[in-house]
Amino acid sequence: MAQPPAPETLAPKALAKMGADLIVEQALVDGRWISGTGKPITVENPAEETVLGQAPRLSGAEVDTAITAAARAFPDWAARKGQARGDILFRWAALVEAHEESLAALISLENGKPWKEALGEVRYANAFITWFAGLAGRLDGRTIESPSNEHLILSFREPVGPVAAITPWNFPAAMVTRKAAAAFCAGCTVVLKPASATPFTALALAKLALEAGVPDGVFSVVTGANNEVGARLTGSPLIRKLSFTGSTEVGRKLAADCAPTLKRLSMELGGAAPLIVFEDADLDTAVDGVMAGKFRAAGQTCICPNRLYVQAPILDAFLERLTARVAALKVGHPLEAGVEIGPLIDPKALDKVEDHIARTLDSGGQVLTGGGRHDLGGRFFQPTVLAGGDDRLFAAEETFGPVAPVFSFKTEDEALSRANASDFGLAAYLFTTDQGRALRVGRGLEAGIIGVNTGLVSNAANPFGGVKQSGYGREGSVYGVDDYLQIKSMTLALGQAARDD
Ligand code: NAP
Repeated sequence: MAQPPAPETLAPKALAKMGADLIVEQALVDGRWISGTGKPITVENPAEETVLGQAPRLSGAEVDTAITAAARAFPDWAARKGQARGDILFRWAALVEAHEESLAALISLENGKPWKEALGEVRYANAFITWFAGLAGRLDGRTIESPSNEHLILSFREPVGPVAAITPWNFPAAMVTRKAAAAFCAGCTVVLKPASATPFTALALAKLALEAGVPDGVFSVVTGANNEVGARLTGSPLIRKLSFTGSTEVGRKLAADCAPTLKRLSMELGGAAPLIVFEDADLDTAVDGVMAGKFRAAGQTCICPNRLYVQAPILDAFLERLTARVAALKVGHPLEAGVEIGPLIDPKALDKVEDHIARTLDSGGQVLTGGGRHDLGGRFFQPTVLAGGDDRLFAAEETFGPVAPVFSFKTEDEALSRANASDFGLAAYLFTTDQGRALRVGRGLEAGIIGVNTGLVSNAANPFGGVKQSGYGREGSVYGVDDYLQIKSMTLALGQAARDD
């Protein structure tokens, strides 16, 4: 039997066709594909600055239909045995695996990340589906000792109800499955609004979910304008929970919009992660960690190190190695083999990166490599290393681009206090060969996710979420389903044993 071609040998044109073949220009409402009544939203290919397709702009009434369907489908879905829901999730995972190369190409087309990295995202996304498939039969409650001998208390974990999920463009697949698979595991139904820049990956995943047996109404994917879709999702009393991943600013607004209906909330918001390299660190490990954490998705991830603090005695050696590695990164079309850095998502993203570089230069910093738009033009930016200047900008604002600003520090206390001098608290990284220091500093960092001697902290088993203005709730891991469950207690009176006399 002929073997399928090795992915690296697929020509960009072939990959582009595989991705484009998955595009569905319709929204999924109550198991039906609809075109929507509004003027469609144009979705672009950021690498080529061409039109990729049109996503429906649903009306408020069409979003309401999805919400009503989620409420109608909820009792039956919630009443199924957990493992029956898990079996459907396993089938979904098998279908995602069967289409992983095409899904990766679709992510590259609408998001711009290099195909190999997009394939990594599809596998990461699928790990959430299998993770929660396995957990679905294990949502046990407890028996609880009562303070009195006359009672026994039982607790049950029950699904919170229909859930709204709103996802960003930077992980078009993983943010969808991290929410939907956890919700389905718990027995919740989902109405999901993907980012308008990258709706097609979410729609393609939903199509596979239907094929896997997710019943009508259990999973709707609604596309459209924020004021229309967002207001319906946050305002509806039928929706019992909102799970949001995106910027802190939008998260705050959505939390306020959910207050009148007292929805449960999960808020996975922005970050400005510090990365600390101590003088006793293994330098190659530290530079590898920066390359993996900082330059993935061209620096457009919420857990990207946004500011690097390097202890003074090793600063020059570190900068030399980092600059050489960053200068060698291959920038190019995301479907071309060997490309490591694709375009940024939109022109505003380039403006922001330029602004951060200009402000660093104004505050006394310098550019060691990169520093401007790439010769390829369009939305491509040169991978950049900055040294010196004011770190407070990078503690206050996510750069969301391929820029590594490096600052020096003298003592452990100074590193910790500068790392914590931010309103954000999502991820933080430290590099040291001293285990005591790793634990001491790791415990002291005000962040939800800590990487020690690694820049890679995203996997299905790791509790993912922030503190401070990076939000609340945890996704993935054994805790990720808790946000979709509520506890019911039952107190049983034990009565008296019958006496023989
Ligand atoms: P964003 O502008 O906050 O948008 C996120 C989502 O919210 C999109 O679907 C967006 O829709 C929607 N939205 C925006 N305004 C809304 C409103 N008024 N009502 C309802 N929905 C609304 O963020 P982004 O630029 O897509 O994503 C980047 C941000 O996400 C960064 O801050 C990053 O750090 C954060 N992020 C956090 C995590 C985490 O796990 N903590 C993971 C990934 C990303 P439209 O696309 O239609 O505007």
